[in-house]
Amino acid sequence: KVRQIFGRPFVEGGCPNIGCNYQDARGDQCDGCGKLVNAVELKNPRCKICGQTPKLKTSNQFFIDLPKLEPLLHHWIKISSPGWSNNAQVIARSWIKEGLKPRCITRDLKWGVPVPLDGFRDKVFYVWFDAPIGYLSISKAYTKDFLKWWIPERGTEVALYQFMAKDNVPFHSVLFPCMLLGANRGYTTVSHIMATEYLNYESGKFSKSRGVGVFGTE
Ligand SMILES: [Zn+2]
Ligand SMILES: [Zn+2]
Repeated sequence: KVRQIFGRPFVEGGCPNIGCNYQDARGDQCDGCGKLVNAVELKNPRCKICGQTPKLKTSNQFFIDLPKLEPLLHHWIKISSPGWSNNAQVIARSWIKEGLKPRCITRDLKWGVPVPLDGFRDKVFYVWFDAPIGYLSISKAYTKDFLKWWIPERGTEVALYQFMAKDNVPFHSVLFPCMLLGANRGYTTVSHIMATEYLNYESGKFSKSRGVGVFGTE
């Protein structure tokens, strides 16, 4: 139980974002306002499984320095966002308007992709750090020429379209582009983010993690 605060999806509490009173915010994102959350900032945090108050424990983690990448991201969003759906533009802009914070990209969990570095191999990557890298690896599984799309030669134009629910926009408009821009290898970034609105169920948002909706077992 002591460690569960680090299994952030298992921690819930009041949203710490100003203007949002959502009480069931998750340890990584609030379903009320859609913004990202730092688990340690949740108000009245509780374990989703047993209801107990998690204890804080210190540990070393890796962060992506989003503030350092902010000027690059600003410039990139200005150029790229005209091709995005309106809600994606609004979400991305509201994000950078508040200023970016360093974002923790590792977790003390058993399940996940292990960090490939001595001294840290018992940690795994945060899902939204490793999941978008899957866009590259799935292309690589399809063709050995995948870099023609992901690091195109000069003069080759690649258009990358991504379709998602709007709660995934921050990861595709801020986090993943920052990873690619920060790598500085000329990676293709998304040109068209197509975000859909939520589908509601009994006046709440459908959510698999929160058990709101109709599932295959019912
Ligand atoms: Zn919120
Ligand atoms: Zn518990």
